[in-house]
Amino acid sequence: MRYADAPEQQAWRQEVRRFVRRHVTPALRAELRAHGNEGEGPLARAFHRQIFDKGWWGIAWPTEFGGLGKSAVDQYIFVEEMEAAGAPAMRLSITSVAPTIRRVGTEAQKERWLRPILHGEVDFAIGYSEPDAGTDLAALKTRAVLDGDEWVVNGQKIWNTGAHTATHDWLAVRTEPDVPKHKGISLLIVPMDRPGITVQGLETWSGIRTNAVFFEDVRVPRDYLIGERGNGFYYVMMALDFERITLGSTGLLRRLLEDLKAFVRGTVRDGRPLGAVPWVRRAIADLEMRVEVGRQLGLLNAWLVDQGVVPTKEGSMAKVYVTELNARLASVGMEILGLAGQLAPDDPAAPLHGRLQWLYTTAPLQRFGGGTNEIQRCIIAQRGLGLPRK
Ligand SMILES: Cc1cc2nc3c(=O)[nH]c(=O)nc-3n(C[C@H](O)[C@H](O)[C@H](O)COP(=O)(O)OP(=O)(O)OC[C@H]3O[C@@H](n4cnc5c(N)ncnc54)[C@H](O)[C@@H]3O)c2cc1C
Repeated sequence: MRYADAPEQQAWRQEVRRFVRRHVTPALRAELRAHGNEGEGPLARAFHRQIFDKGWWGIAWPTEFGGLGKSAVDQYIFVEEMEAAGAPAMRLSITSVAPTIRRVGTEAQKERWLRPILHGEVDFAIGYSEPDAGTDLAALKTRAVLDGDEWVVNGQKIWNTGAHTATHDWLAVRTEPDVPKHKGISLLIVPMDRPGITVQGLETWSGIRTNAVFFEDVRVPRDYLIGERGNGFYYVMMALDFERITLGSTGLLRRLLEDLKAFVRGTVRDGRPLGAVPWVRRAIADLEMRVEVGRQLGLLNAWLVDQGVVPTKEGSMAKVYVTELNARLASVGMEILGLAGQLAPDDPAAPLHGRLQWLYTTAPLQRFGGGTNEIQRCIIAQRGLGLPRK
């Protein structure tokens, strides 16, 4: 069976396509390239505002929370078209934090947080990792202690990407020091403008900024603790499941592959069309096949969400497959482009605006982000296939 859009999905895809064609301008794309694709510049913010105004960040949200009530497959189509057009990515507030609050938050918390997220008034950085707690997240030490009606937070997070621009941190903290370590964690929303927070920038190879964040006697209202106290570890796992579904989208790869195919069709090297070179033809055919497989995995995830399932095994499968495909496409693509393929996006001579070189430097981060691919393979083996822990 081959998946094809139903007529109403086709109409939705065309609507999104028309919108991005008009609003993803060359100037916006250039700004994104200059900011390492992070969407932090003024044009990207203006673009995000238009999406907020249309209510399109809440495509698959229930209408009672201000969403459009469409399906997860419709959301997949939206993300695919946005990525394919080179638009700024969907924020983790929308794809990971909000669905978790919707599932585990109290009614008051849903009321308090969901609409502001949907309207872009609140934007989260994700604060799980610590210097001694990455994969083994349950080892985290940042403490939150109740003092009257407020939590008092002390500790340090690392790789807290976006903490320098976010309004709030979605923070995993230890609230119960005397129980088994994964049962003592809670999820706390921390406004970034509270006294006692220090944000230190960390520059990565790709130019993307992340942060170390220090909390010293930071006070947060008691009801900013999401869901049940001590259940935070499970909520983090749920939020990561949601995060991985989006990490597994192939819209960007499809666009880069289209650009690469156009380059191959239009290039003559050593007097011979590049597309006639056997290893180039094989490499392009191989990438075509893999991008299509990644797309089918993404659609499978979206369909599962529509069936009311939080995809665990399938979310990890898509995350591993697509993030490893990023590296493969970047590496093979740069080889096809030749030596100039190694030029960075800011070099005017870089073919395809240096997008493959950019992908090459960001691909390792994607294999780490949302839980490393080694761990995703453990999740597939244990939670998906029921194999015993080693
Ligand atoms: C640029 C960047 C941005 C990030 N952004 C965020 C963010 O916004 N928020 C956030 O909370 N975190 C973020 N992270 C953290 C990221 O999720 C962690 O780096 C990741 O979870 C791994 O943790 P670690 O770095 O401590 O490595 P470790 O846990 O020390 O792992 C090191 C290596 O050992 C492997 N390994 C560890 N344990 C096992 C095991 N049991 N079985 C098999 N292999 C294992 C890992 O797969 C990895 O290859 C970011 C990281 C980077 C580099």
